[in-house]
Amino acid sequence: MSSTIDKFDSHVMHTYGRLPIVLDKGKGEYACDEDNKEYIDFGSGIGTNSLGYCNEKWADAVCAQVRSIQHTSNYFYTKVQAELAEKLCAVTGCKNMFFGNSGAEANECAIKIARKYSFDKYGQGRQTIVTLVNSFHGRTVTTLSATGQDVFHNYFFPFTPGFVHTPANDCAALEKLLDEDKTICAVMIEFIQGEGGINVLNKDFVDDIFRICGEKDILVIADEIQSGVGRTGTFLASERFGVKPDVTTLAKGIAGGLPMGVCLAGEKCADVLGKGMHGSTFGGNPVSCAGALAVLDTVTSAGFLDEVAQKGYYITTKLLEIPEVEGVDGIGLMMGIRLKTKKAPEVLAKAAENGLLILTAKDKLRLLPPLTISYEEIDKGIEILKNILEEQ
Ligand SMILES: *Cc1c(COP(=O)(O)O)cnc(C)c1O
Repeated sequence: MSSTIDKFDSHVMHTYGRLPIVLDKGKGEYACDEDNKEYIDFGSGIGTNSLGYCNEKWADAVCAQVRSIQHTSNYFYTKVQAELAEKLCAVTGCKNMFFGNSGAEANECAIKIARKYSFDKYGQGRQTIVTLVNSFHGRTVTTLSATGQDVFHNYFFPFTPGFVHTPANDCAALEKLLDEDKTICAVMIEFIQGEGGINVLNKDFVDDIFRICGEKDILVIADEIQSGVGRTGTFLASERFGVKPDVTTLAKGIAGGLPMGVCLAGEKCADVLGKGMHGSTFGGNPVSCAGALAVLDTVTSAGFLDEVAQKGYYITTKLLEIPEVEGVDGIGLMMGIRLKTKKAPEVLAKAAENGLLILTAKDKLRLLPPLTISYEEIDKGIEILKNILEEQ
């Protein structure tokens, strides 16, 4: 056993099931462990290393920022924050945004906006937020409440009240709920449930949500923490569905592996939070902002997002040629592989042994490769996976 693992396990709470691998460095789509074993990474730190490991342009921008100004309190302005906010609003069509450090924080902001919007307009009593069964929205006590999975509603009672869950893709149940419950102020969705198993919402269901919410002045919040920032071959997954949520949250891939979560608001919600109503010490950290600017420049460069979509098709086609693969769900480079007989966690462990890092989500294998992955590395990675899936 590696001394790193010993030291770590003796001193860090055991909240994760970890593989016995100590990752030490990386370059592009390759990660390298303590013993210099190389891995092709099809998980990119759960979709955070959107440009792969230590992308040159990203690393230069981040290092330059560290050497210029690493942090200020939010009582001051910084140039990188302003630039990033301007670009994020331009690319998403949103009016303004709030800077936090994680997905859960971004969602907390969205939840506050929804409740305050309704309070301002309708007074107290309209505070309930609808989320979908099998959703995942974070690990704070409030975002656990929002998360529509019973396994997460344990131990930490009392959870924040004011959340109800409705099944994904069940238009009748949604219509009934929004008709009967007059306390609802927002519906929060993932267009593609990530942790819930890479389940893509039906277009009909999404259209229904936006239609009914529009009629009733109920806000639609899109949690694009996993699906956003180019992952699906458009900057936001909402573009794929042709809809414009009132509030959108991004995190994971936004800063290329540095902590950042943002909450973007459309016209309707742009002025809901005023001075002193929300904050975050590290929110909008200049170093993270510099990383995010490099990610944004790359992701919005000519042809980049079409490439992401193409790579998604390419991987899907290749996977479907493997007899053990039952089907592939998802959009772009956010993929869930349904297996016929093999167990996802066992395949994940074997893949790591054979130099390929992948993820799981529920019963599926999950792939979130870096958006910059090359076709050569895609082929190499799929070859490793294929060999494992074809073992008797
Ligand atoms: C990962 C994730 C979160 C939580 O993000 P953290 O940065 O871990 O707080 C929330 N929503 C979705 C859809 C996610 O994938």
